[in-house]
Amino acid sequence: MWNPRLLLIAPLASLLLVAQPSPTPMVLPVPVLQPGEGLALTIGDGEVHTYGEARREVPMGSLALLVWMRLEGSEWASRSVQFKCTGASGPSTCSNRKGHGKVDLSKALREDCNLAFLSWIAQAQVGWKFDYGEAAARARLEEVFAPFLGRRLPTGDGLPPMTAAWLGDGDLLRTSPEAFLRWLMEPEQSGVVTFGQRFLAGFWVDFRNLMGKEDWWFKTGTSSAPGDPKAAGTWVAGGRGLALVVLHLPQGQGKEEAMARIRKILGLTS
Ligand SMILES: [Zn+2]
Repeated sequence: MWNPRLLLIAPLASLLLVAQPSPTPMVLPVPVLQPGEGLALTIGDGEVHTYGEARREVPMGSLALLVWMRLEGSEWASRSVQFKCTGASGPSTCSNRKGHGKVDLSKALREDCNLAFLSWIAQAQVGWKFDYGEAAARARLEEVFAPFLGRRLPTGDGLPPMTAAWLGDGDLLRTSPEAFLRWLMEPEQSGVVTFGQRFLAGFWVDFRNLMGKEDWWFKTGTSSAPGDPKAAGTWVAGGRGLALVVLHLPQGQGKEEAMARIRKILGLTS
């Protein structure tokens, strides 16, 4: 279908930054990526643009927290869940070994507090079993995580152990920049985008200063896959208004480097 916005594409950055269409029609410039990077983006017109290794499936890392927001985010937000992270709990350690201290949902999502999520998920499981039984709970879990599970979930009727693998640790959950972008674009995920805007926007102060009220939101995440170092890497997923973007960087780059890359690619720095 003809879409007038496509004819009004200013340089990518200004299109995404400024709601006003440019009077001069231009061609969408190709973002310059480095080897191993993959990028998928939409300006909100339903079209998906992919660059580099956008279709390479790799472990999704802590982007999995956004899938949990789809599953339980409303419940956790309405209960104003909290957790005190000391960095370790039994066999589990947190992404911050020194502990995150007291976290709420926003901070846990922003800083990847695995222990907080594991605790809230354990509580949620008790509720699921009580509310609709274990088999239905498993069916719901499988349905929501299906795009990322492939056939890696052992068959069975019961709930699998909710380990850090369900927070994106290791190889259980996988995706590609394009697949995750398409997932975020689905109407069922509108709540995830809203949580992103609510909890993750404006965290990057210079962005807020640059763009006023309508902030970009970004969720960073790192992943590792034992035995497959090439599959490890860093993720950034985010959006502003109807625009959504997912970037994957190869191993060796941390969250700060990933944020610097996405800023550069989107032209968010002057
Ligand atoms: Zn923590």
